[in-house]
Amino acid sequence: MFGRPPTRSDNTKYYEILGVSKSASQDELKKAYKKAAIKNHPDKGGDPEKFKELAQAYEVLSDPEKREVYDQYGEDALKDGMGGGGGGPFHNPFDIFESFFGASSFGGGSSSRGRRKKHGEDVVQTLKVSLEDLYNGTTKKLSLSRNVICSKCKGKGSKSGNAGRCYGCQGSGMKVTTRQIGLGMIQQMQHVCPDCRGSGEVISERDKCPQCKANKVTQEKKVLEVHVEKGMQQGQKIVFEGQADEAPDTIAGDIVFVIQVKEHPKFKRKHDDLYVEHNLSLTEALCGFQFVITHMDGRQLLIKSHPGEVIKPGQHKAINDEGMPHHNRPFMRGRLYIQFNVDFPDSGFLSPDQCRVLETVLPRKPSKQLTDMELDDCEETTLHDVNIEEEMNRKKQQQYREAYDDDDDDEPSMPRVQCAQQ
Ligand SMILES: [Zn+2]
Ligand SMILES: [Zn+2]
Repeated sequence: MFGRPPTRSDNTKYYEILGVSKSASQDELKKAYKKAAIKNHPDKGGDPEKFKELAQAYEVLSDPEKREVYDQYGEDALKDGMGGGGGGPFHNPFDIFESFFGASSFGGGSSSRGRRKKHGEDVVQTLKVSLEDLYNGTTKKLSLSRNVICSKCKGKGSKSGNAGRCYGCQGSGMKVTTRQIGLGMIQQMQHVCPDCRGSGEVISERDKCPQCKANKVTQEKKVLEVHVEKGMQQGQKIVFEGQADEAPDTIAGDIVFVIQVKEHPKFKRKHDDLYVEHNLSLTEALCGFQFVITHMDGRQLLIKSHPGEVIKPGQHKAINDEGMPHHNRPFMRGRLYIQFNVDFPDSGFLSPDQCRVLETVLPRKPSKQLTDMELDDCEETTLHDVNIEEEMNRKKQQQYREAYDDDDDDEPSMPRVQCAQQ
């Protein structure tokens, strides 16, 4: 491959490529490779050949067994020992790079290199947050367990790195079974081979990797710190690229958190604005008020009316810059809207005498007083209390039922075929 005479063992070249001493530790190797690989990455205009050499050198030296062989006999000895299937002794240099930096490093599409890795599935999860969390911003720690490529066998599943073809499916990973379901009718069903679970290969009992038991992956527990930023919206996504399950020959999918906001007992949100309701007594609505709203960061906002101001039921007022922070520009805030409800006193609250006193203060009644003669011409009526919403609902249901009954009535008018036949 490198055209060197097999008699001479060259066991310094890999160290020179990475620029480390022959006694370099694993950590030093890792650092040296990372630094050089970033500098020479083809997506960044680096030399592809140099990039490949770096990956090969690192691949050998990072594996204690291969490093020992290389130190003693040089690279030619490795090529003999590593002769797997037709793929050549070394891994794809981009795979090695990506094992450090993730699949999306440099935003370089893997398609540009025509690799045949498949994409793993994304894991999408809702993240329940309170409105306070979105107002103040917060960090949530979530623990999860996921599959990672087995560190011992690097995802091969075997000690030797070799696997045999599955006998059950001849290496296809799928099995076809036939079943007779009727006279001369055969059903064919294709399903994943149970012997190799679709991989098409088997690893002999003795050769199984002791760490992953030939599963190629192991479980890893991990804590994700999810940063919920000020002003984020319902449905917004927080993405952890490549953090979903790892699998051999697969680009790990993303873990995606979708923000779901819990309902707040006091504040409602619309875009960057906040809405709050406040009940005033009739006296407050007429004669002025002052009260405190505790905001979501604990600040106490003093709300008060202007002298002489009268508040009507359902009226709104707004305070600028006390709404939600704007995502990306958290120093900008929406408005805080206050909707005022007015609690009127119950019937019987005022005695007839008190009424007369009040009438002297309140706006005058409509002036038209009826004469006794006019009253004689009128009919007496009785006012009943009603719950108008309930009544409307009941009427709607009644109309619906009647419409439904009409459908039933249609049936007898349909043509009767049986009668015509007799
Ligand atoms: Zn393993
Ligand atoms: Zn199989």
